[in-house]
Amino acid sequence: MNRILYWFRNDLRLHDNEGFVRALENADQVLPVFVFDPRWFTPHPRLGISKMHVFRANFLLESVADLRQSLQRKGADLIVRVGNPANVLAEIAVEIDASAVYTSKEITQEETDVESKLSTKLKPLNIDLKLFWMSTLYHVRDLPFEISRLPDVFTQFRNKIEKSAEIRPVFETPKTIRLAPDVLPGEMPTLTTLGFDEQNQILALQPDSRRSVPFKGGETTALDRLDRYLWQTDLIATYKETRNGLLGEDYSSKFSAWLAHGCLSPRQIYTELKRYESERVRNESTYWLVFELLWRDFFRFVALRYGTRIFKSSGIKHDLSKKYQHDEDLFLKWANGQTGIPFIDANMREMNTTGFMSNRGRQNVSSFLVKDLDIDWTWGAAYFESRLIDYDPCSNWGNWNYVAGVGNDPRQNGGSQPRYFNIYSQATRYDEQGDYVKHWLPELAQVPGSLVHLVSNLSLAQQEAYGVRLGIDYPLPVIDPTKWVF
Ligand SMILES: Cc1cc2nc3c(=O)[nH]c(=O)nc-3n(C[C@H](O)[C@H](O)[C@H](O)COP(=O)(O)OP(=O)(O)OC[C@H]3O[C@@H](n4cnc5c(N)ncnc54)[C@H](O)[C@@H]3O)c2cc1C
Repeated sequence: MNRILYWFRNDLRLHDNEGFVRALENADQVLPVFVFDPRWFTPHPRLGISKMHVFRANFLLESVADLRQSLQRKGADLIVRVGNPANVLAEIAVEIDASAVYTSKEITQEETDVESKLSTKLKPLNIDLKLFWMSTLYHVRDLPFEISRLPDVFTQFRNKIEKSAEIRPVFETPKTIRLAPDVLPGEMPTLTTLGFDEQNQILALQPDSRRSVPFKGGETTALDRLDRYLWQTDLIATYKETRNGLLGEDYSSKFSAWLAHGCLSPRQIYTELKRYESERVRNESTYWLVFELLWRDFFRFVALRYGTRIFKSSGIKHDLSKKYQHDEDLFLKWANGQTGIPFIDANMREMNTTGFMSNRGRQNVSSFLVKDLDIDWTWGAAYFESRLIDYDPCSNWGNWNYVAGVGNDPRQNGGSQPRYFNIYSQATRYDEQGDYVKHWLPELAQVPGSLVHLVSNLSLAQQEAYGVRLGIDYPLPVIDPTKWVF
């Protein structure tokens, strides 16, 4: 009897899951396992914030529970454990007399460290470890260049890949699963057992009514969202025009959280997009979603090429000359949405309250932290890591490298594409009437839209008229915002 243990990681789905399909093909019986690693919830050594805050933890719990239900509907189950994955998996593999452990290939250090430890444990037991590359639109083996020759400029990457590589078809969802018997399924952990206090649990379980998307983890909701964004609403057909929005559910796809946890495969999105293009409409917007998914691929390949550099202040460029401030008070004002710059504060408060922030918001708050406050960008990236539901090591740290000017694009930072954001220009362009900032900063609700982005300039009489006292109801600005205006 040939048995394979399938270790689910950031591939929490049954559709387009090559590793799982191969396990079913190659074994008489398969044992699907998920392991919650307590190290995911440990605090950042300097900042004290947990690596995974409650929003993502809750999304992960929902995703794993959904996967378990889907497997149960197919006559199988998902074995759930809490512990060090290398130890737990090796033990179970021995228990079921597995010939191999199959799993998805990850890219970044903490994840590959676990793979190495597991491999070291399995080797003397004569159990194979087989890793499947499954997270990108283009398979790493189909790249038309060696990874060491990955173009540094995104456009060159895109041109090469679009010209010379093909996207592989999706793998079918398995119909039946032959489960290895006699292993206790194990209880799902809860937010309490994962260490979240009541106040944090309320944040996740009684979500703020102002949030734009009711994110629910799992493949089921991921496929619903895909269906909704394309077929039910045709929102995809106007994506290019709406994607820079700030308010509401529909200005962008909101696929990111499901993609990050692997509840949704990028190739599944692509397949549905192609079908949509042939059955409904093909235009710049339908292409633009693929374009954005290519950015996601790009950052994965960048992480593969540059390894741990993406996590260091000196970045991909290995620029040791730049010295950053390590001002914790100022950093906390940024993190808590208390800078006195409404566009920054509204975005940070949205993320703190919901676990999500738009792409436009992320570009602005990151630029502000690095370029205006001069604070170590790795602090900002660590904060995003903690708070975002869609946190993905490659996309997060890769984007932060770019914003901080330590990425691999030689044209950035003083070149033809300086990445400095004039926050006032951005705010007045993308939130012309101030609706977004007022949504998240109710203390500014009565300030006219034309004045709200420069609220620190209000006279005492205006403050009284609009019901806001600067320095009391809303903070004084941490930097002089008039530099953006005059
Ligand atoms: C500083 C910073 C940090 C970021 N951190 C993350 C992160 O941890 N996880 C994450 O998924 N995205 C991250 N992004 C990228 C982007 O902001 C989000 O993917 C996007 O806002 C998610 O919303 P959406 O799914 O509606 O995006 P859409 O606009 O609908 O885009 C569709 C998909 O394309 C991909 N995508 C779009 N833009 C980017 C980009 N710039 N880089 C990589 N992929 C992209 C995402 O998978 C996204 O779901 C970050 C951007 C910045 C500037």
